[in-house]
Amino acid sequence: MADQRTPAAGEPDGTPPGTPAEGGAQARPAGAEPGREVAPRPRGGEVASPEPEGYSPLIEPRTGLSEVLAPVGGFGVTLSNMFRPTVTEQYPSEKVPAKPRYHGRHQLNRYADGLEKCIGCELCAWACPADAIYVEGADNTPDAQFSPGERYGRVYQINYLRCIFCGLCIEACPTRALTMTNEYELAGPTRAGMIWEKQDLLAPLREGMLASPHPMVEGTSDTEYYQGKVTGPTDAQREWVAEHRPDDPTLPGGAGVAAANQPGPTAAAQAALAAAATKQGSR
Ligand code: SF4
Repeated sequence: MADQRTPAAGEPDGTPPGTPAEGGAQARPAGAEPGREVAPRPRGGEVASPEPEGYSPLIEPRTGLSEVLAPVGGFGVTLSNMFRPTVTEQYPSEKVPAKPRYHGRHQLNRYADGLEKCIGCELCAWACPADAIYVEGADNTPDAQFSPGERYGRVYQINYLRCIFCGLCIEACPTRALTMTNEYELAGPTRAGMIWEKQDLLAPLREGMLASPHPMVEGTSDTEYYQGKVTGPTDAQREWVAEHRPDDPTLPGGAGVAAANQPGPTAAAQAALAAAATKQGSR
């Protein structure tokens, strides 16, 4: 007796999905529209060919003795390096100078007569992407001329917890007052100790310079200073300092620039820390 059952959904002719139809034809996947070609899926266990046609490896396969020694080949690198000079830097017991263009701690420079180059314009602070610089400008007066022109930097702070040493501040400075040294030993046990003040950042006085404040060179303006036409202090400047600060160590016959170049409290604390670390590292 013939089967009178009605084919279920997905079995239009009563054949389960995925089984070949009668006569060897490929079964239509379940849900496929009639009359539409569907690429057959690979059967389980099929993988792509390991090497595509036309491919040839660049590394030649090892043969003979090299194949035997291959497992210990890595030791050859170790052994050859045992007889090469050591390149490890023994910091902090041995300090290697940084490259000339290394971006280290900042410095506030001076003109040849000792006046400060910073004019308190705050451009460095505005250029800083990390908001690490704080500047307050003030007016120079006849009794207290710290820089050529009208203004000078009264307060100058750099927060080395924020600074990323990008150098954008030194690009922004219109007077080349701010530059970066090669000094890289900047660490400390306190957060407050990482904020460097103006007295920590000012360039040391060189031999022959006169400590500021003092008047500008007679007959000059800030333009002559910017153009590098001032090459040192004049007698009139020395007389002014002798009259207002007779004990100034930078005067002729004074204690000398070494006595005047006392580091600021933060710079001094930093130097002591670096010295202690060096001593510890040398043990
Ligand atoms: S360091 Fe340069 S940019 Fe910054 S306040 Fe002084 S003069 Fe202006």
